[in-house]
Amino acid sequence: MSAAVLPGQLGIPTALAERVERLARTFRDGGRQLYLVGGCVRDQVIGRALHDLDLTTDAPPDEIKRLAARAKPDGLYDVGAKFGTIGLIYRLPIEEESWTLEITTFRTEQYLDGTRKPEVEFGQSLEEDLARRDFTMNAMALDAHTGALHDPFGGQEDIAARTIRAVGDPSERFREDPLRMLRAVRFAAQLGLEIERETVRAIQQSAIELKRISRERIAQELTAALVSPRPDVGVRLATDLGLMEFCIPEVLPMRGVSQRPLHHKDVFEHTLGVLRNIPSDPLLRWAALLHDIAKPQTKGVHDGQVHFFGHEEQGARIARRILRSLHFDNRFMERIFKLIQMHLRVNSYDSEWTDSAVRRLVREAGEELDALVKLSRADVTSYRTERREAAALRADEFERRVQLLLEQEDIAKLESPLDGNALMTLFGKPPGPWIRPVKDYLLNLVIEGELGQDERERAAELAKQYAAEQGLV
Ligand code: ATP
Ligand code: MG
Repeated sequence: MSAAVLPGQLGIPTALAERVERLARTFRDGGRQLYLVGGCVRDQVIGRALHDLDLTTDAPPDEIKRLAARAKPDGLYDVGAKFGTIGLIYRLPIEEESWTLEITTFRTEQYLDGTRKPEVEFGQSLEEDLARRDFTMNAMALDAHTGALHDPFGGQEDIAARTIRAVGDPSERFREDPLRMLRAVRFAAQLGLEIERETVRAIQQSAIELKRISRERIAQELTAALVSPRPDVGVRLATDLGLMEFCIPEVLPMRGVSQRPLHHKDVFEHTLGVLRNIPSDPLLRWAALLHDIAKPQTKGVHDGQVHFFGHEEQGARIARRILRSLHFDNRFMERIFKLIQMHLRVNSYDSEWTDSAVRRLVREAGEELDALVKLSRADVTSYRTERREAAALRADEFERRVQLLLEQEDIAKLESPLDGNALMTLFGKPPGPWIRPVKDYLLNLVIEGELGQDERERAAELAKQYAAEQGLV
């Protein structure tokens, strides 16, 4: 057993740690156990930043609520009375940061043969609660009173060996809840761990069971893997282990589709490269995964040249269908659609483009312009440094041109605070060639930032001064 870690020593803000310690005291005074459990203990052992805290206790839900209220959190809610989980909200004074804590009564889950949903029952002991969890690294608990670590399945050892291992018999555990297979892949991508051999074998044998899982839960795990530090590892593993077939079967044909002599990598390897290149964001990572999804079916060879005519249009449509089947919302689908449809445009930019050509692209991309440029930059995965550098310079130049045009358009929108009519009234003079120089003078001051467009009175003063100096009136 490793050294005790008290809440105050967890890698969380001090203000939060103090309140967790207060919560722990309240439970102890009420004669109840309280443990930090699951992901937060794992992350603490790994040395990864904690983002939310889950706790477990022998107190039934009603009593959790009573005891928790005594510790005065800033908010208290029922996560689901059926599951016996109570949520606590803590608002921290610094940066208005807000944390949620969820406390759940010890549970056991029984999977009655033939049923898909577990019968959730309250358990009698911490050990029982830990035994129902998916992987050894997720089946550890930290006593909130004493700081003692409970690690009945060797989670620490597995973490030290960088291993993801199912608790108990892997096949049985995956049969109980097939989503765990995808969770294993997601954790591998997130944490840089490897899935242990028996666990791998069980996944390969049980992959088809993913069919029983709702598309929403699958989408959630896929997104978590995609925004992780190793999205390529997640996609490769899911594909190799046979899970991708039941998540996004359209990914499989990308494997082995050669792009030579145009590109060295096949479509699948190129896609993994784009995923590695692009910043972590759900929109960007999903666009990267799906941007060449139609290449397998649009591939053609003409005079020894490979081409993929129309893969961007067709790919956009396939991507939309995939995302719809995973229950993404319309806006997300349409954004991805546009990114994929336009994904070749920025990289076809060259210095010869006219301003109106640049403007057209900016207008078509609309709000997605920034994402489109990021996707275009990431899309160049050539081994050849000079190709990558040339592409980066091209994207830089494109962005400079856009910036310049936008500035020009902003300037074009500026006006003199006093128009011709206002000047005629001001000077009591009929229209004539004297107006233009005064107006230009005022407009220039606005462009230079020395006069506000709405400072009509100051503008009048300045106009009088200038007109007198120039002998215009
Ligand atoms: P994250 O850092 O992404 O929140 P996590 O491990 O905390 O990762 P959660 O989905 O928040 O993942 O689940 C909290 C804990 O509940 C897990 O650490 C694990 O102990 C348990 N758990 C979650 N999902 C399952 C599952 N499908 N089967 C068994 N145990 C699970
Ligand atoms: Mg969690």
